[in-house]
Amino acid sequence: MTNQINNPQTRQWQEMSQRHHLAPFSDYKQLHEKGPRIITRAEGVHLWDSEGNEILDGMAGLWCIAVGYGREELVEAASRQMRELPFYNTFFQTAHPPVLELAKAISEITPPGLNHVFFTGSGSEGNDTMLRLVRHYWACKGQPNKKVIIGRVNGYHGSTVAGASLGGMKFMHEQGDLPIPGIVHIPQPYWFGEGGDMSPEEFGIWAADQLEKKILEVGEDNVAAFIAEPIQGAGGVIIPPESYWPRIREILAKYDILFVADEVICGFGRTGEWFGSDYYGNSPDLMTIAKGLTSGYVPMGGLVVSDKVFEVINECGDFNHGFTYSGHPVAAAVALENIRILREEKIIEKVKAETAPYLQQRLRELADHPLVGEVRGVGMLGAIELVKDKQTRERYPEELAVGMICRGHCFANGLVMRAVGDTMIIAPPLVISRDEIDELVSKARLSLDLTLRDVQ
Ligand code: PLP
Repeated sequence: MTNQINNPQTRQWQEMSQRHHLAPFSDYKQLHEKGPRIITRAEGVHLWDSEGNEILDGMAGLWCIAVGYGREELVEAASRQMRELPFYNTFFQTAHPPVLELAKAISEITPPGLNHVFFTGSGSEGNDTMLRLVRHYWACKGQPNKKVIIGRVNGYHGSTVAGASLGGMKFMHEQGDLPIPGIVHIPQPYWFGEGGDMSPEEFGIWAADQLEKKILEVGEDNVAAFIAEPIQGAGGVIIPPESYWPRIREILAKYDILFVADEVICGFGRTGEWFGSDYYGNSPDLMTIAKGLTSGYVPMGGLVVSDKVFEVINECGDFNHGFTYSGHPVAAAVALENIRILREEKIIEKVKAETAPYLQQRLRELADHPLVGEVRGVGMLGAIELVKDKQTRERYPEELAVGMICRGHCFANGLVMRAVGDTMIIAPPLVISRDEIDELVSKARLSLDLTLRDVQ
């Protein structure tokens, strides 16, 4: 923890962390030496820690707080549902009103043809469900050999065994013998980091062509599906060159494989459209959703299935899969209310027309900073590449951990910005105002200045 500690309770909580809490994606020794920063409350786009510091949440919790913190309507929806029916399962031919109304509401906002929803507790479970359902689909069609799923290097699809295998994070594969068999990866469309001398457009075509190469290598008769995030989020807000998705669509049209869009980050308005697939004009056969579905107020995820896939599995007996909390009534009630707010307050329309263009314009002003090699973004997503040499895109030595230095300065100065290597990323709540965007950009510039001072 970088800030000074004055509140004795902070120390007590840190001790509890040290003694009892195993936190996700954490170096335990480092975490327990420093102690976590304790976040105690939130309102709008701001967080407060146990020391009373106010912090602008540039990451919307973990890419999930779409409608902002402190929405009483969501609290009311949860408490109403808890009083009425706090839990019942959706197994064995039962259902309840909130899950059915939510499935209908989702089918009204998803791209055409995506009309059926299998609910889960998280995005990872959504992708696990996808793997099982896609293989079930091909078996039902009499093609049980079509099992292989193609993902992308540095993609992120969750932390369960299947989720981490579908993702292409090397540091995750190294723990626990992943990926599991039947999952392969192609390069990511990350021009800034891997494009070399190619133009972004040439590189986009090259990266997309790797899909065709992999389908031919594995054999079309063995490939079940291709999974991709419209924009890779956790990998570093990787926005593909414009040539990428059109070429991918051409390839998918040639081969009989399913296309899965992982919309866990891009869904529910982050790009200024309801889904990243809408933004790029893609037509997936399946979509994984989570995060923005409930604005993160309660856990919920799901897999949205197209009519084409549904028609096959509908005629094929039991799908032997499900979670206790599939379609949890309280989560469903909160998700429904969240979707109502997004629709009635026209939050996504406002992102597209007003706040996202302003955020993108203000963020790009940071490109003049000596540390910054590129600023890119779409909608309420942004990335700032930190480099030693702006012209050659040369990075600082890895051991310097420039991204982590910058993240530390952001945190100390009241801004949550995440570091993926030396790429700083932001994804603020969709309801961020122009004034709050100004606050975000000025805190980011201050943090860049302090980082530059440290590395010079
Ligand atoms: N897919 C994507 C694109 C994600 O970003 C994430 C989480 O960050 C997941 C899946 C996994 O979701 P969860 O953490 O809810 O399991």
